[in-house]
Amino acid sequence: MDIKTIGVVGAGQMGNGIAHVAAQSGFQVVLSDIEQSILDRAVETISKNMDRQMKKNLMSEAEKAAALGRISTTTNLADHCKADLVIEAAVENFEIKAEIFRQLDRTCPPEAIFASNTSSISITKLGAATSRAGRFIGMHFMNPVPVMKLVEMIRGLATTDEVYDTVRSVAETMGKIPVACNDFPGFVSNRVLMPMINEAIFAVYEGVASPEAVDQIMKLGMNHPMGPLTLADFIGLDTCLYIMRVLYEGLGDPKYRPCPLLIKMVDAGRLGRKSGRGFYDYSGA
Ligand code: NAD
Repeated sequence: MDIKTIGVVGAGQMGNGIAHVAAQSGFQVVLSDIEQSILDRAVETISKNMDRQMKKNLMSEAEKAAALGRISTTTNLADHCKADLVIEAAVENFEIKAEIFRQLDRTCPPEAIFASNTSSISITKLGAATSRAGRFIGMHFMNPVPVMKLVEMIRGLATTDEVYDTVRSVAETMGKIPVACNDFPGFVSNRVLMPMINEAIFAVYEGVASPEAVDQIMKLGMNHPMGPLTLADFIGLDTCLYIMRVLYEGLGDPKYRPCPLLIKMVDAGRLGRKSGRGFYDYSGA
């Protein structure tokens, strides 16, 4: 199947990155969210991130203008009806995602492929909320999308080989390296990463060390480019908590219990970089 137009649902940090890379790679992009102000902010972010690429000589002024010209925005999900592939990047919440896909299922032609950028939710279960489980797949981009090479490709129980091959080739056209895995809670990336982040939060919670010390130890000692708490702030603490809950419930093992400090921070609205405060303060950033 030839993919020309890509719909992106959700214009937060991941959605704007996916729209950016898709448009840069020559696809027509329809980007949607619940409010126009969010979409305007997303396009501004894309433009700024493209300026950064221009400074590094990765993109010309003309390429930037052409890529931005390929992006249109909407607050109406039905406007994805012309998309050959719709990639959903709304908040990490099963009910919200399932409702988005139910609506898309009603308005998009039956041959359109649906993908979710979920970090942890079952692709099989999301696919089953639609009438096209065979044309449903997980396409898990990494943050920041324009920089990170990996796309974790998750096959639901019913995903067809044709859909897998089509979406893999879209990821490659976007300059990404797709790696396949099966549908289990947290897939591979977050099943391995998130318990480490949760444990780092436990270390702070139990007074083992300050956030700064935990991050420095992991950076200097393990050669990680970013400490786990800085990374948690970057991902979003709400997303981290949701993923831990999916692991805890989905795998049924107490070792995935979310740290009470993580829960408290989310309850307080300290979601990390995107809310201005998490383990660190970003109010001046
Ligand atoms: P975010 O909070 O920055 O953005 C989510 C966006 O979804 C918001 O703009 C919100 O307005 C929008 N939204 C909420 N309800 C909606 C609806 N009904 N219809 C359309 N849009 C709606 O979150 P994010 O970090 O961009 O995460 C988005 C998805 O990507 C999540 O599933 C997350 O797990 C996944 N993900 C996140 C990361 C990361 O590092 N943050 C990495 C990989 C995957």
